[in-house]
Amino acid sequence: MPIRPCLVLLLLAPAFGAAPGWDPRPGLARIQAEATANERAYANLQWLCDRIGHRLAGSKGLEAAVAWSRDEMRREGFQNVRTEKVMVPRWERGPEKAEMLVPVRKPLRVLALGGSVSTPQGGLEADLVKVGSLAELEGLPEGAARGRIVLFQAPWKGYGEYSEVRVKGASAAARKGALAMLLGAHAPRTLDTPHTGVLHYDEKVPRIPAAGISLEAATQMQRLLDGGATVRVRLDLQSREYPDAESANVVGELRGGEKPEEIVVVGGHLDSWDVGQGAQDDGVGCMLAMEAAQLIHRAGLKPRRTIRVVFFTNEENGSRGGAAYLEAHRAELDRHAGAIESDIGNGLIQGFSLDVRALQGDEARKQRAKEMVQGLMEHLKPLGAGRLSSGWSGVDIGPTVAAGVPGFGAGHDTTRYWDVHHTEADTFDKIDKQDLRKNLAILASMLYLLADMPERL
Ligand SMILES: [Zn+2]
Repeated sequence: MPIRPCLVLLLLAPAFGAAPGWDPRPGLARIQAEATANERAYANLQWLCDRIGHRLAGSKGLEAAVAWSRDEMRREGFQNVRTEKVMVPRWERGPEKAEMLVPVRKPLRVLALGGSVSTPQGGLEADLVKVGSLAELEGLPEGAARGRIVLFQAPWKGYGEYSEVRVKGASAAARKGALAMLLGAHAPRTLDTPHTGVLHYDEKVPRIPAAGISLEAATQMQRLLDGGATVRVRLDLQSREYPDAESANVVGELRGGEKPEEIVVVGGHLDSWDVGQGAQDDGVGCMLAMEAAQLIHRAGLKPRRTIRVVFFTNEENGSRGGAAYLEAHRAELDRHAGAIESDIGNGLIQGFSLDVRALQGDEARKQRAKEMVQGLMEHLKPLGAGRLSSGWSGVDIGPTVAAGVPGFGAGHDTTRYWDVHHTEADTFDKIDKQDLRKNLAILASMLYLLADMPERL
């Protein structure tokens, strides 16, 4: 359905959650009309993906993206545009190769997990032992994984479970004496595209190499093992770690009218994995944030509060950008009226998740915040984005939210997202232009509401 300011609905809708005298509907209608024909978010994302490409912490790509973003914000007329220095880890993928040797020979597409150590030069060779979960690994009899490669493979049950295995699996396997870990892509689908993503080593056990393989390869090996076959794999991963490198969060503002000292943050993360183009994860979140702010400006609106666009650095393998933002802005934390993050691709936004974790234990204030936001969400219902949930908002705004700022996570439809994120397939061609425009209308509307509502949460 095309987005157009639906006058009938707008006229019939009561001014939910509004203070007397505040009616955001005319402003929202202008924003939504602007978004309908917007070309810039798409063009900017194309530039970021095709001209700059992927952007892992410590890479030339990320620093090129930081410089381009800063210049772009200046060209677009943002105020106080600056880069805020962040030291980030630097890990580099090297040549990598995997092959099933027994019972059939077959090359396997493989991606080292971010931070993985190398195999010995020339690779290592071992039989597989398959587990479906960390608990199953824990429960293996003594010696069952010793000298082997642990293969994690289980049906997709959502990202939370998958990422826990990815983060902790290598050290859990090392504790059992394994030589390496392979992780089947716990995505609903792959087209022989393995996934990467960060892992953490437990310093109490040896660091063993770990890599993602595709669903096609992992399920074939699972079937062979279930049938009683011995499956032997050769794995050769080379990677390097370097001292921390300098990067930066990119910040630009549009100054508010009545309450310019109060701030609403909107952003995503500029870094990506070192494969694909980081289009869905999270180039699109950044470009949406920048354009949402611009759209409000271009619609001739000046909301009460200052809008601050932040492109966070190093979300993927360190979350240092989010931590650095909090440190740099602690003194003005109580002037933050909210922080919005978009970091799960370009599927249509169906609503927002309200994250007031700092109010834990203060049920009355939590309830009041929820009611106020529920009022705002009524204005997003005509856009199909009126769903309000409670909980997680985003990794980058996480530290700021934990310190007391209300967080808002853009709730994108993730039906296709997990297929491509952290893979070679996270590229610009998957970006649907109409969905991007609709998301822009929704994000800009939410931003405008939070920046203009008379009283903050
Ligand atoms: Zn992301």
